[in-house]
Amino acid sequence: MNQDKKLKKLYFKKLSNGKNILMSYGSNLLLVDNYEDLSNISDLPLDDSFFLKDGEIEKILPDENSNFKNILLFLLTFISLSITLVFTFIFKIPTGRYILNTGFNIYLSIIITLTFSFIVALIHEFMHIIYAKNFGYLKNGGIKFKNIGVFTVEIDHIWLWNKKSRISTLMAGISFELILMSLMYIFYFFNNYTIIMSFISILWFKIIWQFQLHKKYDVHLIAMMIIDDPFIEQDYKNLDYNKKNAKVWILLKILGFFVQIILIVFWAVPLLFSIYNLFKGV
Ligand SMILES: [Zn+2]
Repeated sequence: MNQDKKLKKLYFKKLSNGKNILMSYGSNLLLVDNYEDLSNISDLPLDDSFFLKDGEIEKILPDENSNFKNILLFLLTFISLSITLVFTFIFKIPTGRYILNTGFNIYLSIIITLTFSFIVALIHEFMHIIYAKNFGYLKNGGIKFKNIGVFTVEIDHIWLWNKKSRISTLMAGISFELILMSLMYIFYFFNNYTIIMSFISILWFKIIWQFQLHKKYDVHLIAMMIIDDPFIEQDYKNLDYNKKNAKVWILLKILGFFVQIILIVFWAVPLLFSIYNLFKGV
């Protein structure tokens, strides 16, 4: 049998704005106003529960996460956030000038920094894959390598899940970085190695990076999940769009812009200055 001809289960979900989303294995998320629209977009034989009629269901999407799996992540995130906040009062947040201050020479510092960032980025995406249950569903868990050290993971199907599972999937990457950061703060408390502060600075940068709400990073997607609208980015400018949601969305975008300025002022600029000074000293 031809691979493309295999039957796929169709999934429907009603969003809180009354619209319905539709998806099947390997497809994009589709927005439909009501069930009747289905007959307009396909001539597929459907029964009442929108399973394909008279055929075996071969390709299905993964089920949402268990409560235990979600709560475990929320709990670990809360604990590591609390630990991080306590240590932030003691040691402050290390800005970009700490990144290359590893206690080694400049070239080794650059290699260590890039390697650490790369490994963290990889584990970050791996956490999304675990929480999106991509293994066994998408090739290589749906991970894609974009630019230097930038990975993305395919997670459209989580829109069919409940909010808790959706948010845990999107939080999983940041949660990992928070857990790692709290462990590093604890380690630093007992052993004042400068390299640990360098790692903590990188982790702060990575977490704050996700809060650039005007860009399609994790926190932008979490906000979308909470508002319960996967198409808000296209729709918020429309005059007939929900006014309250549109206002929230614009406010979040402005906030994201300020976060971007924080990253430039406290991380990018100090890092460039430290590179200049380190090379001047070589
Ligand atoms: Zn992420």
